Amino acid sequence: MRKECSICKEEFNFEYKKGEQLPQYFPFCSSRCKQVDLARWLNEKYQISTSIIHDELTTNEVEETVNFLHATTNGNYTHDESKD
Ligand SMILES: [Zn+2]
Repeated sequence: MRKECSICKEEFNFEYKKGEQLPQYFPFCSSRCKQVDLARWLNEKYQISTSIIHDELTTNEVEETVNFLHATTNGNYTHDESKD
């Protein structure tokens, strides 16, 4: 059977008989192309999670600022009360 490798766009032959396992690199022509695909996939996932983390950090920064202001205000009140 002939199949086009989605990484290097070269056609390659592979043998597949019913009941047998697919070739190790399938659907790529070699382990190198499979690794290239994996690296691309990981890079995509990394970029997606980085943008999610970035959004969370932005939200956390707002929360941290609000919490800091509350803590500062409460701390001042507590300090004043303990002084009296
Ligand atoms: Zn290939």
